[in-house]
Amino acid sequence: MQGIREMVRACAQGDRERLTCTATVTKVSRISRHFIRIQLTSPGFDRYTPAPADAFRLLLPQHARASPTGEEGIPARVSMRAFTVHSFDRRSRTLEFDVLDHAHGLVANWLGSIVIGSAVEFIGIRREFALDPSTTGLVVIADACALPAASAVLGASAEIPYVHALLEVPHSEDFRLVPESVSTHWLVCENSSAGLGSSLEQLVLEQPPFPPGTQFWLAAESGVVQRIRRYLLNDCEIPLSSLHAYAYWKYSVTADERDARDLAAYTAASESGADVLDPEVVDRIEFGRSLLPEDTNTR
Ligand SMILES: Cc1cc2nc3c(=O)[nH]c(=O)nc-3n(C[C@H](O)[C@H](O)[C@H](O)COP(=O)(O)OP(=O)(O)OC[C@H]3O[C@@H](n4cnc5c(N)ncnc54)[C@H](O)[C@@H]3O)c2cc1C
Repeated sequence: MQGIREMVRACAQGDRERLTCTATVTKVSRISRHFIRIQLTSPGFDRYTPAPADAFRLLLPQHARASPTGEEGIPARVSMRAFTVHSFDRRSRTLEFDVLDHAHGLVANWLGSIVIGSAVEFIGIRREFALDPSTTGLVVIADACALPAASAVLGASAEIPYVHALLEVPHSEDFRLVPESVSTHWLVCENSSAGLGSSLEQLVLEQPPFPPGTQFWLAAESGVVQRIRRYLLNDCEIPLSSLHAYAYWKYSVTADERDARDLAAYTAASESGADVLDPEVVDRIEFGRSLLPEDTNTR
């Protein structure tokens, strides 16, 4: 059996062409207390081949500012924000995604100003999930903004004999995003956990031993991911090959600030000959580890 890490790597490597296009907002609807579903359409989606939990970025306008001539509504600049595909319909070239309304930040501003028919730049696709069909066990660990991706992963894992989800949602109503058939431990945390000793980390620590051969898909706040990742690798002795871990946001840091830091790290990695689409390389950059071969003491 191939580990989840190798499977995601193979998936990303077989798929190098960027999908960039201008999309139009065709529908906006609130689907639960904290989630809003947005539908986009674009002729460019003809080139999209979907896989579960695919991620993409949108170029969103920063605050509109007054122009020198006094006209309002000219975006000063744009910033990228990452989301997860919820569904895709090839016939109508429409794609849906779910946004956590966490009340502050650029995305919240965009949600407040979004109108049907508005255009937005779309940049994709990043593969976030792939699994060997012979996998016998999968544990999915996610916080609120990773819930759309976790739901997609769980929805694609119905054939796996043992699937368990450890999830954090801002309100019990938001749990409706998760497929019903899945065995789940979930907790309600109005503000997503961050950093040391989070509720999500506590939930993972409380679990009985995981069955041998289990694969892990983990996405949450950066500090939370680092803590859980370390626990799984060092205390539970999960092989690195069985873990896909990714930080979806970082406490008190905007995505722009993260992107600026990442750009420098990815540029340096690329210049040193590393494959920046390789999850192993991404993992090393994300968790501030050396690009040299793995040292078990530093993982
Ligand atoms: C691969 C990937 C897929 C993703 N998929 C989705 C998705 O489908 N739906 C979705 O809603 N999000 C998703 N995210 C997370 C989303 O991209 C980030 O939360 C993003 O930072 C939100 O931008 P913002 O403009 O709201 O906040 P920013 O401007 O980036 O940050 C402003 C402030 O808000 C805080 N903040 C940022 N995100 C959160 C959060 N989730 N909870 C609490 N505080 C936060 C920051 O720490 C900062 O203090 C995904 C991220 C990645 C990497």
